[in-house]
Amino acid sequence: MNPANSDKPFAALRLRPEMSRGRRYPELAHPYRTEFQRDRDRVIHARAFRRLENKTQVFPAGVSDHFRNRLTHTMEVAQIARTVAATLGVDEDLTETLALVHDIGHPPFAHAGEDELRRQMERFGETFDHNLHGLRIVESFEARYARFPGLNLTFEVREGIVKHSRDLTPGESPELDAYLPEQRPPIEAQIIDLADEVAYNTADLDDAYSAGFFTIDEVRGAVPAFSDIWEAVEMQFPGAEERVQFLETLRQVINLLVSGLLDGTANAIQAAGVATVEEVRRHPRRLVGLTESAAATGRELKRFLHRRVYNSEELLRERHRSVRMIAELFAYYEANPDRLPSLYRDQAEEGHSHRVICSYIAGMTDGYCQRIYNELLA
Ligand code: MG
Repeated sequence: MNPANSDKPFAALRLRPEMSRGRRYPELAHPYRTEFQRDRDRVIHARAFRRLENKTQVFPAGVSDHFRNRLTHTMEVAQIARTVAATLGVDEDLTETLALVHDIGHPPFAHAGEDELRRQMERFGETFDHNLHGLRIVESFEARYARFPGLNLTFEVREGIVKHSRDLTPGESPELDAYLPEQRPPIEAQIIDLADEVAYNTADLDDAYSAGFFTIDEVRGAVPAFSDIWEAVEMQFPGAEERVQFLETLRQVINLLVSGLLDGTANAIQAAGVATVEEVRRHPRRLVGLTESAAATGRELKRFLHRRVYNSEELLRERHRSVRMIAELFAYYEANPDRLPSLYRDQAEEGHSHRVICSYIAGMTDGYCQRIYNELLA
């Protein structure tokens, strides 16, 4: 896709702020910010957003100040998603808001934390889903307005929170029935999952390379596109140190993936022949996606990261430690609900204390979880 000769090619698919289904509690229009700009600003000022700084992305905090945490990861997703939205011609502010809010429901200790909370909830025949938790944060846990609970975000942002990474199944949960479970989300929300993948596949490679998890030859052997770009970079900058050559290569890998995302999406939109937001919603499949060759590079990167990084001894050890901490805290609060903070204690007394414990732990940062654990159990 060449944006130079296709000015805003899919502007007709843009979900413009005036098309919004609105907020739960009606509010007057702002004199100079659109509804989606207001939502973006509300997310940025939320406490749960600030807590992302102290939540692990992949590498635990405290090992190095250069690794991504969930906040800097979120900023990278927002930057990639905005570029994609702007080039396609869909709403940049809605896209940015969805990117900024996409991980707001993430529990401490990344996927290990989420998996363990899910395991705990399965004992009660329930589950834990970070997107649903994110929805509860913006709907009720954030308490900063006098006239309503939560952030009173527009329908489209709430819909994007629950649908950014998967389609809903009609009837799966009464909480989700309002979010058009039979429809696809608009292009703005479809962008997020892919922008997220491009961001973390490349960022995790960067962090893991700095941490010495693999050599250049190893990643070259596993990811042919990386290898081709590396060769060209070496030829162009033969005197540059390896770390700089790596970064030059990585930058072009990001570019390859984002270009593949733009081209793949443009092709799918054209093939589907959709011309309005409603047609995007009613189309049986999502339209945002990578070209086959960019998707292959993405898969190779992911496989390599799983093998050499996510399932490495170091990270597995860290994961076991976090899982144990969360499991012990959960059991402790089940046995001692009186030790929950007062707000949660009151809710726990009204019943379903496992849900209250789950929400409390899910909202913790890594640092807070560790402190509470040390205080109560270490
Ligand atoms: Mg993410």
